[in-house]
Amino acid sequence: MATLRDPWTILGLAPGTPWDAVRTRYVQLIRQHHPDRYADNPDEQRRQEELTKDIIWAYHELEKRQLKFSARPRPAARPSPPAWTPTRMTCARHGRWAVIFCTVCGEPLCTRCDSALTGFCPRHRSQRRGVH
Ligand SMILES: [Zn+2]
Ligand SMILES: [Zn+2]
Repeated sequence: MATLRDPWTILGLAPGTPWDAVRTRYVQLIRQHHPDRYADNPDEQRRQEELTKDIIWAYHELEKRQLKFSARPRPAARPSPPAWTPTRMTCARHGRWAVIFCTVCGEPLCTRCDSALTGFCPRHRSQRRGVH
């Protein structure tokens, strides 16, 4: 596909929108297009599924850029992690559609795994609590 994949366009935001606003917009869009909402209509569900994938891709693309931007200098010993690709779209715990992925391990998380959409799996959420 030769379509221009601009994450800002997909999310309907102006380039450079602050990260908090990106996040809010993402959660809004995911709720709006979540395939679970179209369970009665398989055609529409498939369409929404594709849309959701794009939205998730766009969000993670911007997240990567944002992380790069705010990353503290690290010893260069560790190679950068492989590029994240949405291969699995359902969570391991409930088999439900993922709405967000763990920022640390990339695990797909449904609204039950991460009801507050923190972007961390239960494992990494508890670790993070100590940090802040
Ligand atoms: Zn995790
Ligand atoms: Zn789940």
